[in-house]
Order: sequence, then C-alpha cells, then structure tokens
Amino acid sequence: PSVIVKKLFLDGIMVTVNQEIDFEKAQEIALGYDIIAEPEEKIDVIEELLKEEDEDESVLVPRPPVVCVMGHVDHGKTSLLDAIRDAHVTDREAGGITQHIGAYGVSINGQRITFLDTPGHEAFTAMRMRGANSTDIAVLVVAADDGVMPQTIEAINHAKAAGVEIIVAINKIDKPSANVDRVKQELSEYELIPEDWGGSTVFVPVSAKTHEGIDNLLEMILLTAEVLELKANPKRHARGLVLEAKLDKGKGPVANILVQKGTLHVGDYIAAGACSGKVRAMMDENSRRLKEAGPSTPVEVLGLNDVPNAGEILVATETDKEAKNFAATFVSEGKNRLLEDTKAKMSLDDLFSQ
Ligand code: GDP
Ligand code: MG
Repeated sequence: PSVIVKKLFLDGIMVTVNQEIDFEKAQEIALGYDIIAEPEEKIDVIEELLKEEDEDESVLVPRPPVVCVMGHVDHGKTSLLDAIRDAHVTDREAGGITQHIGAYGVSINGQRITFLDTPGHEAFTAMRMRGANSTDIAVLVVAADDGVMPQTIEAINHAKAAGVEIIVAINKIDKPSANVDRVKQELSEYELIPEDWGGSTVFVPVSAKTHEGIDNLLEMILLTAEVLELKANPKRHARGLVLEAKLDKGKGPVANILVQKGTLHVGDYIAAGACSGKVRAMMDENSRRLKEAGPSTPVEVLGLNDVPNAGEILVATETDKEAKNFAATFVSEGKNRLLEDTKAKMSLDDLFSQ
C-alpha cells in the first residue's frame, strides 16, 4: 500500500490507504506493476468465470442439501450440531481426527447432508452481504421451554429474505417445562404453521441432550431436499464459497471451502477474492486427504497465496494466469463490481436451490 500511495502522491493524487480511487487509475497502476493482463482480457476473465453456462438438465446430478442451524442464543444450536455430528458424521471409522472446517457431512442410509457449523448468523450474514449464500435449508432451533425470542425472529427474517426453506426443530423437549404447543402457537404468528395445524412448515420436536427426534429431523431434511430437487453439474471447474480462512503457522493460508458447483481437484488453479494459487492439498472434516471434492462438499484447501475473507467466492480456473487475473481484478476493480456481477449472475435459485 505504501508504494502505491507514494506513486499516487507523485502523480498528484493525495489519498490515504483506505480511500477509493477511480477504476482507470487503479487499472493504470496495476498494469504498471504487471499484476493484471491487458484490460480487455481481464474483463473477459471475470465474465467468463462468473458466467453461468446454460447447464442443460442432462449434465446436472443430485447433490446433498446444505443446511444451516439458526436460532436464539442458548436454544441449542451448538448442542444440536454436536448431537448430529456425534451420531452420524461420515466415515468416522476412517480414522481421522475430526477438525472444525466450518461444515461437515453426515450420511443417512447412503444419503448425504452437509451441515454448516460456522457460527450460524455470522456466516449467514457475511455470505448474504456478498449475495452468495449457499444454504438450501435452515433449521430453526427454538427451545421448548423458552419459545420465540428476538434472535428467533431475526433468523426467520434472514431465512425468508434469502428464500431458504425453514424446518423448525423444537429443542429441549426433555425438559419438564417444555411446551411444544406454545412454540407452534408463537411461530404461527410468523407464518410458520405446522402441517398438523393445516400449514406447510415441518416441525420436529427434538432433544439435543437425549438425541430424541434427531433421526426424524434428519429424515425431514432429506425429504425437504428431495422436494427441492437440488442438482449441480459436477463436471465443470469448481465454484464455491469461503466458509472460514486463517493463516496456519505450518500450512500457510488455510481456506475452508464449500464446493457448490463442479469438482475441485488437487492441482487446480484457484482464486478466492483477492487471493490466488493452486490446490496443494485438500482435507475433509476427518482430516482425510481428498483428491477431489464435488458439489456440496466442505473441504479444507491449502495452496492460496493469502487468507481470503469468509463469504468470498472461490473459482477454479483453467490456467494460473486466469486465477491471478481474477484475484488482481478483484483488488483493482474493487469488490463492488464483482459483487454486482455475482449477484446478478448468481440469482436466487442459484444461491439457494440449484
Ligand atoms: P446455542 O447458544 O444455541 O448454541 O446453545 P447451546 O447448544 O450452547 O445450548 C445452550 C444450553 O442449553 C447448554 O447448557 C446446553 O447443554 C443446553 N441444551 C441444549 N440442548 C438441550 C436439550 O435438548 N435439552 C436440555 N435439557 N438442555 C439442552
Ligand atoms: Mg452455540
């Protein structure tokens, strides 16, 4: 930054490090440092990468639903995610140490569900700000002894604004003070009306403590997913979302990615936000090394040159140059235009159902 600020200063432009400069100037500077290609080519790269190929039905195959858990503090989100994970995390016997990568997969009778376990609303908000939420189904956790609370309403609003399917998990039914009907009553004021009351929202009573109802909840998620007909094309360059990222002393930048479309392979060139690189290694939530990761798969990715922000889009590219261009353009052009493009091109049905 100091070099660029100095260069601008010498050009007679007084700016601080946080200040915006116009696109032409940014481009001129970037070209001067040889970090992006000629403008025409650069624009093409971005458009090419974000462009939705008209994927015809024949290339689409079913993909697992991506589920997030939302609700008021202390209503049992973490406990529920833990209960599900303890009971059903995939391939535990494969021997890895489970690690937190922002999401995990469970398998029920051979059908997979991907749970985001990034602190619910934070990830949700970050991604939504970028117009790139990846959630198909929101499990709204409401404690049966506490009922609808402010963050319950917030969660409902988030999910509705995003067009995400809501399944209600009435938690803590093991408690003597649990009152399932009161929760149903309160939620019906927010247009979440249970099927047995003539509505269309799925309500599942559960206890994260005793595990009662957990399997039923998972079944309901799978049923809902079936209705949504979630599909993706696994045979294209991957696109995904950064769930979390950090700098690891030993491994360097580590990005936890949810692959949404295509398949990510070890050796693929990638860009995420302003970072680029090549996939050096990928690990699942059980620390098992993966060679490839298809749609709805969460993976830890090593090989980016820097730490991207949570919620940023990851793209795999044909060449190293394309990945670098993408990252450079993201920097020089500001996120805004990209975001606009992304928003426009990742329409709601793209973000949440397909
Ligand atoms: P979060 O803030 O929504 O993530 O809630 P937590 O999962 O941290 O749970 C808050 C508290 O409720 C903890 O003390 C949990 O042990 C307790 N809790 C969560 N689920 C249940 C449940 O099903 N039954 C009972 N009795 N307690 C629960
Ligand atoms: Mg929690």
